[in-house]
Amino acid sequence: MLTKEYIELEDKYGAHNYHPLDVVIAKAKGIWVEDVEGKKYMDCLAAYSAVNQGHCHPRIIKALKDQADKVTLTSRAFRNDQLPLLYKELCDLTGYQMVLPMNSGAEAVETALKAVRKWGYKVKNVPESKAEIICCENNFAGRTISLITFSTEEQYKDGFGPFTPGFKTVPFGDAKALAAAITPNTVGFLVEPIQGEGGVVVPPDGYLKEVSDICKKNNVLFVTDEIQSGLGRSGKLFAHYYENVRPDVVIIGKALSGGILPVSAVLADKVVLGLFNPGDHGSTFGGSPLAAAVARESIKVLIEEKLVENSFTLGKYFREQLRNINSPHVKEVRGKGLFIGVELQPESGGARRFCEALMDKGILCKETHSYVIRFAPPLIITKEEIDWAVERIREVLLMA
Ligand SMILES: *Cc1c(COP(=O)(O)O)cnc(C)c1O
Repeated sequence: MLTKEYIELEDKYGAHNYHPLDVVIAKAKGIWVEDVEGKKYMDCLAAYSAVNQGHCHPRIIKALKDQADKVTLTSRAFRNDQLPLLYKELCDLTGYQMVLPMNSGAEAVETALKAVRKWGYKVKNVPESKAEIICCENNFAGRTISLITFSTEEQYKDGFGPFTPGFKTVPFGDAKALAAAITPNTVGFLVEPIQGEGGVVVPPDGYLKEVSDICKKNNVLFVTDEIQSGLGRSGKLFAHYYENVRPDVVIIGKALSGGILPVSAVLADKVVLGLFNPGDHGSTFGGSPLAAAVARESIKVLIEEKLVENSFTLGKYFREQLRNINSPHVKEVRGKGLFIGVELQPESGGARRFCEALMDKGILCKETHSYVIRFAPPLIITKEEIDWAVERIREVLLMA
């Protein structure tokens, strides 16, 4: 079948909740994907950072296959021999005392919010049904009704009300606004250390330290959503490491499985996650032996192949090269590690046409908002491959 035929089928039978580039991918390896007609592209989106380890990483695929031959799902009604090891390895790596596994990122954020509320009622003694959670403008946390409740993106909410009470938003990057919004009933502050879907927005230096201090002072749990920024994407294991803070709760997902299947988790100490009792919360697939085996290997690959360090070093190089292009269309090149946003000038006609031109030259990336191109390739990328990409990005950014 041809590209055009696949697209016709998809558009006829599938709900149109996405606007993909017209490339139909049939296989992938490392940083490269190949379409149904055999054309190769460099993947500079990495499935929104789920594929930090590169597509179909041989070690992770082997872990998947080996585990698939043994047992894939027990449900949490029974124990399995992979989940305890994942727990231990995640706690050793991150320094938290406990883990709660889920599947999608949205589920993990929901789980973190439930944990924070539970803590608010059981430990902080907030009156019944009064708990408040503060979030940031321009956030992205997923697509459930409660999560879109605190989205400030009109489209994400349009037609989906009524929403969930108990949330407010303050401007991202403004610690004073957080301090002013806290009340005796505030139980948590949820923030992405670098906003991904919001356009790769890096807060001012010192912001995370300041909000961490404000949370501590007010007995409010500090929660970082590291689903996109975490696991090496920012050039550190977690983006909040740049400011040496230790959030009370950390949410991870995406690259936790190297893009193989949905695996997410909430990390925290016993004082928070210890509040869950049997029956309080759960998921049929969350913590399955298959997910746990894949996540264990994904983390080992990240650490043993030094992908976090590679992201730090090559991210800096990539940003420098992008800045050197000096395109009249570019307003700003920003980011940390291989988490890079190129914001275009308002008069440049939007990011979509640049993404389409890049696709023609063999590079896949996707606009975030209408005016930012995100460059976030798998963290296994090499300097030579970045040079190859920059050559093509230069041609595209210098077009009329
Ligand atoms: C992708 C993402 C989510 C949601 O993850 P899903 O797996 O798509 O549900 C939540 N928070 C952040 C910061 C994300 O980037």
